[in-house]
Amino acid sequence: METPWSAPVTEMLRAGAETDLTSFDRGGKHGFDGDKALGKAYMRERGRHLAELQEKLYAAGRSGESRSVLLVIQGMDTAGKGGIARHVLGMVDPQGVTVSSFGVPTEEERAHHYLWRIEQRLPRPGRIGVFDRSHYEDVLVVRVHDLVPRDVWEPRYEEINAWEQEVVASGTTIVKCALLVSKDEQLNRLADRLHRPDKYWKYSTSDLDERAHWDDYQQAYQAMLTRTSTDHAPWYTIPANRKWFARLAVTELLIDALERLDLEWPEPDFDLAHERARIERLRLTGG
Ligand code: AMP
Ligand code: MG
Repeated sequence: METPWSAPVTEMLRAGAETDLTSFDRGGKHGFDGDKALGKAYMRERGRHLAELQEKLYAAGRSGESRSVLLVIQGMDTAGKGGIARHVLGMVDPQGVTVSSFGVPTEEERAHHYLWRIEQRLPRPGRIGVFDRSHYEDVLVVRVHDLVPRDVWEPRYEEINAWEQEVVASGTTIVKCALLVSKDEQLNRLADRLHRPDKYWKYSTSDLDERAHWDDYQQAYQAMLTRTSTDHAPWYTIPANRKWFARLAVTELLIDALERLDLEWPEPDFDLAHERARIERLRLTGG
């Protein structure tokens, strides 16, 4: 299939100093020339490519390579974070993926530095790690609700940048996606959760209390995107009102990250000719 993208997703959705959430089009298709049906069909094709790249990464890891990929997903309630893990990573071999969700810190986690629990869940060599929420909650929910004083959360932006730089230096490519739904769409999705028995479980009575802080959250997201989108670990702003679009966009970002690793199938660590000859002998002798 010919590419339906008018420009690379990495360029169109890259966040930075110029990112302005107040004008960002959360229902947009930013450079995708096609409808939902085409998007889904194209996603299947890209999924096969993603699966092959992931298998190469896994194979490289098994052969002693140290590289890995970390996908960080942030977004307000209902933004579709879980759907990314299910539908994007669902297209690759589950053996090579570790998904971690970060909720309210446990007592044990609270006794440590906020990056402690994050470090435990970094992907091992050859793996793709997915974070459903992340260390960024420590400059989002924590900032919005003053869970610690400003002079504690304020230095975290720089601290996170420095920490991520070390993670990248150790061989982990970091791709950060902010899933952005509009306030109206969030209300639709929350309402949906109350009208479908298969979605009741996703509803939390605190969701509406959090929604009341929408504007503060937007400011916290804005600060996060402007201050922690670095060259070593860039943020991408993902319009998320159309779920199919958000999932396709994240698929493309993962493909890009894996392609940049320039992976090859590992060379055999045994004598290929010798092993082939052994098999041939068995064939001849019926052994
Ligand atoms: P959910 O993603 O629906 O399972 O909700 C997880 C909840 O945990 C959200 O309300 C987050 O804001 C909250 N959470 C995650 N990380 C932290 C943190 N570091 N401090 C406080 N709350 C957090
Ligand atoms: Mg929730």
